[in-house]
Amino acid sequence: MAKKPSRTKKKVRSPKKTTASPAAGVKSKQPSTLAAGNPSAGTAPQETRQRYPVETKESRQARSAGEQSVPTHAPATKESTEPAGQQVRSGTAPRTPETAAESSAVKATQTQHTTPTSAATEPPQPAPVEASRPVAASKAAPQATPPATKPPAPQPVPMPAEAESVHIEEPVPDAVQHQEQHPQLFIVHISPEMAPVAKVGGLADVVFGLTGELAIRGNHVEIILPKYDNLRYDHIYEVHEVFQDLWVPWYDSAIHCTVYFGFVHGRKCFFIEPHSGDNFFNRGSVYGFPDDIMRFAFFSRAAMEFLWKSGKHPDIIHCHDWQTALVPVLLYEIYQQIGMSHPRACFTIHNYKHQGVTGMELLRAAGLHDPDRYFDYDRLRDNNNQHALNLLKGGIVYSNFITTVSPHYAMETKDQGQGFGLEPTLHTHQMKYGGVLNGIDYNVWNPEVDNLIPVRYGVNNIDAKYDNKRALRHRLMLADNEKPIVAFIGRLDPQKGLELVRHAIFQSLERGAQVVLLGSSPDQAINADFWNLKGMLNDSPDCHLEIGYDEELSHLIYAGADIMLVPSQFEPCGLTQLISLRYGTIPVVRAVGGLADTVFDKDHSNLPLHERNGYVFENYDHAGLESALIRAIDCYYQYPEHFRDLIRNAMRTDYSWNLPGQDYMNIYDYIRNT
Ligand code: ADP
Repeated sequence: MAKKPSRTKKKVRSPKKTTASPAAGVKSKQPSTLAAGNPSAGTAPQETRQRYPVETKESRQARSAGEQSVPTHAPATKESTEPAGQQVRSGTAPRTPETAAESSAVKATQTQHTTPTSAATEPPQPAPVEASRPVAASKAAPQATPPATKPPAPQPVPMPAEAESVHIEEPVPDAVQHQEQHPQLFIVHISPEMAPVAKVGGLADVVFGLTGELAIRGNHVEIILPKYDNLRYDHIYEVHEVFQDLWVPWYDSAIHCTVYFGFVHGRKCFFIEPHSGDNFFNRGSVYGFPDDIMRFAFFSRAAMEFLWKSGKHPDIIHCHDWQTALVPVLLYEIYQQIGMSHPRACFTIHNYKHQGVTGMELLRAAGLHDPDRYFDYDRLRDNNNQHALNLLKGGIVYSNFITTVSPHYAMETKDQGQGFGLEPTLHTHQMKYGGVLNGIDYNVWNPEVDNLIPVRYGVNNIDAKYDNKRALRHRLMLADNEKPIVAFIGRLDPQKGLELVRHAIFQSLERGAQVVLLGSSPDQAINADFWNLKGMLNDSPDCHLEIGYDEELSHLIYAGADIMLVPSQFEPCGLTQLISLRYGTIPVVRAVGGLADTVFDKDHSNLPLHERNGYVFENYDHAGLESALIRAIDCYYQYPEHFRDLIRNAMRTDYSWNLPGQDYMNIYDYIRNT
């Protein structure tokens, strides 16, 4: 690679402060700061964050009529006529203080809800479909009418009238409040990725962030991962062997595995290492092999066998994406039958594009010995390819609850053709389907505490952001001038809108901006395209394309750039715009999936000015992109005070795991009690 000539540096001028901003003087509903080290701090504006589950007029009526909530022990096969499960409730403060009497009453009643299931001895039954929408909001849950076969729902104990008048509630720490609302749960996440030890994309961040939040809330959380040879061992502490001889059934034999335990930033992790000629996880990378489906089917079977053999009976088994979609199938079809009747399965789909479509051989390998049963459109048979099995579909059919990573994507996948063929399956199972917006871990992605950036800053000293801008330019040998930096960070996958990324690079340069891109692709043709582009632009003092994966550089880009481009074709949630918001880097996004749920256009949103945090466009074409990108660049130059207000709005928005953590607790409670 030819080196750029070194350039004389000029002083960087940040957009000037002003008092004449349209947003000036408007007080945000957001807390102005989020306490470092406390990902639970802060609340989101109710208008901007909608949450699952919702209670609608219909569900209230249904409840009062004594109808049953949705039971999901077994695959549902009937079409439901109920409204979609992905609708969301408006955000509620998740940790409402309650009196000691209320807490203990709730606690006492909840301890009865240990919900053993009869499903172990029953064949799968179609789920009743006349059920009302699940209701599990933090304060609403105890009042919901549970199924007739379940213990009565806890009711708050009324305080004596005189006590009400004199009682002064002590402030209760967040975690304690939560424990009082929810008994501690034993939750096991089974995942192919977790940041930072095995990260390919957003899934890794989600598992890291969500498990941390669930543990903060007082639950016992464990994570099961494959023991890849390329794990980041520098982030795993106290690694030791905990299960030397785990024999995992595979085809007509069994594979010998060893299980290790270690802490990853406080998280309790188990790593499964198979010893066989297949060499499943010693490949130098997580994905990209012809037998990927078999590798992760084996991992799913091994994780379940480990739970069974080690006598673990979690309340919740939470699995992720096609790689672990077989877990609910195995739980129901094998492990419940031999006695593991307690756990409920929650399944999160991070991207419908990848479904694990495979041949019948998988059934024999995984020990699912009745092919006619599984090769059925009500179970695992692929909706498009009549000769194939679809693991993601199996996960949907067999889980007690399925989430995807934003409410908008939940709607798009079920009703707007974004389900990659699984739309009919989602309709059938809509009563146990919803969107929960991802959060980001504010211990990792927070410019106030980030050790990977040269100068830390917060909403009250955004000028320090420009020191990071200087550092970014210095590192990438960009000219030190007054231009805004437009950045892109992401997998170079067609999903990310690569054609528009390319167009945006030229548009930005033409409109007087600098460009920084960090990305890579497993597809060598795509990489080669971007290497060509890099060669073409290499002499520009205003452009740097970094083809590769570099976590540390990504932090500096989030902190140093002014504008972040996310022009995706589809985007289940998107973490880049959430991280960008936290770092005051203004997102320019296409209004799809989670981008539509989290970025609100400065000029066209219906939200109050102080809640607008970026630029949004609709159409996937050059004109669409330009309509947002050019406004962002113009605003930077012509209305710097407005741009600074946008930065503040962005940084104030709460996209921590606080609210999603509460949503998942509600879902866990709901599926445990039905
Ligand atoms: P996806 O899961 O589709 O890849 P997300 O936006 O949900 O996309 O998450 C992407 C995550 O991966 C973010 O944390 C982003 O910063 C990170 N990332 C993507 N590409 C790179 C790269 N080349 N170098 C460093 N981090 C990257």
